[in-house]
Amino acid sequence: MIDKETRIKVAIQKSGRLTEHSLDLLQRCGLKYTRGRDQLIGYGENMPLDILLVRDDDIPGLVRDDICDLGICGLNIVEEKRQEFATDGIDNPFSVIRELDYGHCRLAFGYPESSSLKQAADLGGKRVATSYPAIVQAYLKKQEIPAEVVEFSGAVEIAPSLGRADAICDLVSTGTTMKANRITEGETILDSEAVIIRTPLEISAEKQSWVERLLQRIDGVMQVRESKYIMMHAPKTALSEISRLLPGSEAPTVLPLEGKSDKVAVHVVCRETVFWETLENLKDAGASSVLVMPVEKMLA
Ligand code: ATP
Ligand code: ZN
Repeated sequence: MIDKETRIKVAIQKSGRLTEHSLDLLQRCGLKYTRGRDQLIGYGENMPLDILLVRDDDIPGLVRDDICDLGICGLNIVEEKRQEFATDGIDNPFSVIRELDYGHCRLAFGYPESSSLKQAADLGGKRVATSYPAIVQAYLKKQEIPAEVVEFSGAVEIAPSLGRADAICDLVSTGTTMKANRITEGETILDSEAVIIRTPLEISAEKQSWVERLLQRIDGVMQVRESKYIMMHAPKTALSEISRLLPGSEAPTVLPLEGKSDKVAVHVVCRETVFWETLENLKDAGASSVLVMPVEKMLA
């Protein structure tokens, strides 16, 4: 039995594209957990936080029904459910509190190569197959396109060849699935990534303070993904040029070098990817002994 007053419950996808990333994120935030015998719950050992492993489609509902305080799933599911719940008269079922920068994909139209359809505006009187009927319906309504939406729970891309639809609207990441099915990708109607949703209801102060701690750690984890600690020697005269060259860096630490009055050691944290080109530009600006190191943790 999980104590609802003091323990945070987070729903994540049980098995799918988001599972590994979501578990990895929670672990990087310091969570250690043991899986229950049924494998459906991960019990936090060092934080008052338990993980519920479920189908991604069920996550928004679990948060809406206050069974879970937080949930991690794709914005595509979040937006579809938000519209579905709104139809049922529930207007504020959850709020998106973080975008997590993984699980990137887009919900886009696809037109069979063999058809004369080329854009959404051509869809009047046609059938569109999708697993996201609410989002697609809302888009068509807004654009005043009188198309019929046919709901498919999977394998949307084969709907046209089965004669069940004239076009599709489906999730795309690389585009290979559409191509393999001789479908041309069209307009994107939603850019998606994994997000955290939170119940709009008030939670106990004890839980709230842990939610805030968790979010702060998530921000730290996301920042260090790209961040690098860079050390180098540089002529004093090149300092302003060097700061300009380093992407996303804050004020550098400048240290004297023993026995060298014209040179200093520069240490700086860069919050964006550091490319070889940047290092070459630093060298051209006069830097030497440049070292780039990964950052493990950061607390702003
Ligand atoms: P479940 O069994 O949990 O219902 P699923 O089959 O619905 O799983 P997955 O295919 O694992 O879901 O995708 C989970 C999420 O990953 C999607 O909702 C979406 O946000 C994201 N995603 C990223 N790239 C893609 C892609 N190319 N196709 C589908 N989903 C993608
Ligand atoms: Zn699903």
